[in-house]
Amino acid sequence: MITDRVHNGIPQPQRDGKGGIDTGPRNIELDRQNPDLLAPPATDRGTLPNMKFSFSMAHTRIEEGGWTREVTQRELPIATTLAGVDMKLNPGAYREMHWHKQSEWGYVLEGSCRIGAVDHEGRNFLEDVEQGDLWFFPKGIPHHIQALSEGVEFLLVFDDGEFSENSTFMISDFFAHTPKNVLAKNFGWRPEQLNDLPEREKYIFQGQVPGALGGDRVFSPTGDVPRTFKHKLLTQKPMEFAGGRVRIADCSNFAATTISAALVEIEPGGIRELHWHPTNDEWQYYISGFGRMGVFASSGLNRTFDFRAGDVGYVPFAFGHYIENLSTETLKFLEMFRDPSFQDVSAAQWMANTPAQVSADTLNLPRSMIEALPKDKRPVVA
Ligand code: MN
Ligand code: MN
Repeated sequence: MITDRVHNGIPQPQRDGKGGIDTGPRNIELDRQNPDLLAPPATDRGTLPNMKFSFSMAHTRIEEGGWTREVTQRELPIATTLAGVDMKLNPGAYREMHWHKQSEWGYVLEGSCRIGAVDHEGRNFLEDVEQGDLWFFPKGIPHHIQALSEGVEFLLVFDDGEFSENSTFMISDFFAHTPKNVLAKNFGWRPEQLNDLPEREKYIFQGQVPGALGGDRVFSPTGDVPRTFKHKLLTQKPMEFAGGRVRIADCSNFAATTISAALVEIEPGGIRELHWHPTNDEWQYYISGFGRMGVFASSGLNRTFDFRAGDVGYVPFAFGHYIENLSTETLKFLEMFRDPSFQDVSAAQWMANTPAQVSADTLNLPRSMIEALPKDKRPVVA
């Protein structure tokens, strides 16, 4: 009897002498990408909500100057706290001047762009951002994005699972639905000067690559925004551990007042340790590599999911989890929280800082094993 999870290169729903060959209709590409759904670890048990959705399964909105797609609560129903958008702007293309009810956290995946915003006191912000840079625009604050000469792809995360890029407030849409004589009166223009106003939102559209940042800056009489909306995450010195490294951006070092994030890199053979978060749900975006996450929901319930670049993962508040790199390259992902500060609880640190006899008696282990655990936090272990 053949009981391998993979036989002759074909993944099969079987393991440990149980299950059987799938000879019927199947989506073999998805089965290959989700080996822990097809043949879950024997420790998985019970019915848990779906905690994975790939941007590759999302609708793409194609526009004159680029494209965008989103993974929100509609795509991934458990993801109530945060929603994400993947957007590409060709060189010089704009994401038009707009605002929204949610705060926006951005991470540049590739290329570079110029971002601008003006706050409620007219204080302004204009910066260029490149791969690995973050931005944060508080809710209601108007802003725009324009790609520089190499174009740009970025991830946006919003602090509401029901957010949609398709329902933001756009200046062209606002003006198209305001009488021209009102616009003229408001701005001190003449109505006949407004014949070329767009009839509907422009959203993403082509423009010219702008010149140097210095020449583009506008002097506001009320000054610059009091705290910059930009943060260079990749130039931040990472916390190094045996299995990889972590960079955290939260209210302690960045102006993001509602969203905290960690950029985690797990080297081959490493794992993000068994842990949970004591304040809120976790929204994940995978950047490179291939790995799996096991999620423990109490009451004997556990489910395992596989992730690769472009996938979104989600972990409900307090659920225990680990993430294991199953590939030969660095598994790199963002973990994000609708919380100003980043917090996690380590199973190992908890045990190491509790009288050893307590864990030894609970887990039927010798005291010596517990006493050998390091007392400091090690989020990524090898
Ligand atoms: Mn926005
Ligand atoms: Mn976590």
